[in-house]
Amino acid sequence: MKLATKYIHAGAHPDPSTGAIMTPIYQTSTYVQSAPGVHQGYEYARSQNPTRFALEEAFAVIENGKFGLAFASGVAATDAVMRLLVPGDEVVAAHDMYGGSFRLFSKVHEKMGIKFIYVDTSDANNVAKAMTPATKLIWLETPTNPLMNISDIEAISTIGKKHNCMVCVDNTFASPYLQNPLDQGATIVMHSATKYLGGHSDVIQGCLMLNDQTLRDQLYFIQKSTGAVPGPQDCFLVLRGIKTLHVRMQRHCENGIQVAAYLRQHPKVGKVYWCGFEDHPNHAIAKKQMRGFGGMMSFTLKTDTIEAATKVLSSTKVFSLAESLGGVESLINHPASMTHASIPRDQRIANGLSDGLIRLSVGIEDADDLIADLAQAIG
Ligand SMILES: *Cc1c(COP(=O)(O)O)cnc(C)c1O
Repeated sequence: MKLATKYIHAGAHPDPSTGAIMTPIYQTSTYVQSAPGVHQGYEYARSQNPTRFALEEAFAVIENGKFGLAFASGVAATDAVMRLLVPGDEVVAAHDMYGGSFRLFSKVHEKMGIKFIYVDTSDANNVAKAMTPATKLIWLETPTNPLMNISDIEAISTIGKKHNCMVCVDNTFASPYLQNPLDQGATIVMHSATKYLGGHSDVIQGCLMLNDQTLRDQLYFIQKSTGAVPGPQDCFLVLRGIKTLHVRMQRHCENGIQVAAYLRQHPKVGKVYWCGFEDHPNHAIAKKQMRGFGGMMSFTLKTDTIEAATKVLSSTKVFSLAESLGGVESLINHPASMTHASIPRDQRIANGLSDGLIRLSVGIEDADDLIADLAQAIG
């Protein structure tokens, strides 16, 4: 089945009690039993909710996985994966990734006895070199937030398999429309569904998709035991969002091409980070594993200072200055002070994320209006 048809029908079954085409929002905490232990498969809503189950089925379908699990946020989904580990286990993680993932690893899980080794995963050899008998998980993000670095999912999954080690890919930036890591050999896919899956900047949610039944049972146990489940209303919103993922992503990609090209020729713009450029260091890998390059990009000004960046960040009228990404409306962001403020400055600079870097989430408005807005803001 083609993507468009898959996304519209994923997880959708007419409601058994009425035939409603849209899965109802089952706003309930519990379910009535006719005798102790005699029920219809639903006991308590932290463990079972029909709206969440419909969404979890959709999650599995859109990533070509057997199973999907929904969480209260992207970081809750990431946290659930980390809870598969025990003290002494090692994680090889991307040195350039979402600041909240880094904060979760370094401030929460490190003190639980998990060791994190950060490498530049855009070269798979760095991952191979970092593997030890204690490595139980490779944590990838590709493209990375905000520098748009690309890692070879297939090559790194092969390294993982050789070492009997799980590979989890944060696929938030690409969305399932552009990239399906399970097909490339990854063990688990994680998304912040807050971003492209929800798509309308109105919900916080995360998810995991995978094929392995044993691992799914462990993660389901963690999901219900730690309780970071999304409510049914939020599940409904993401189910609705997924139905238009392909249409939105098509436009994000079209607008992304135009905005990236515009920025690149602008005399006041320094470097543009976007994996669709043919001279992007990992463009060949991006082309191999992605169907398009999306609307996420970052750039610096030739005058790469906080002051110059701040002027642009405060002058846009169509792009809103805000954290987050992947919604229909365009956003502009200053990683150093906003999304990536939790990464120590030295480390941030060493990773190539300068004080003046500006990140864009190019939305699905008219591309001419977006370019005109950047033109007046950059001046
Ligand atoms: C936003 C984001 C997360 C965290 O997701 P939340 O839903 O905000 O908890 C993780 N990874 C990436 C790449 C993100 O952009």
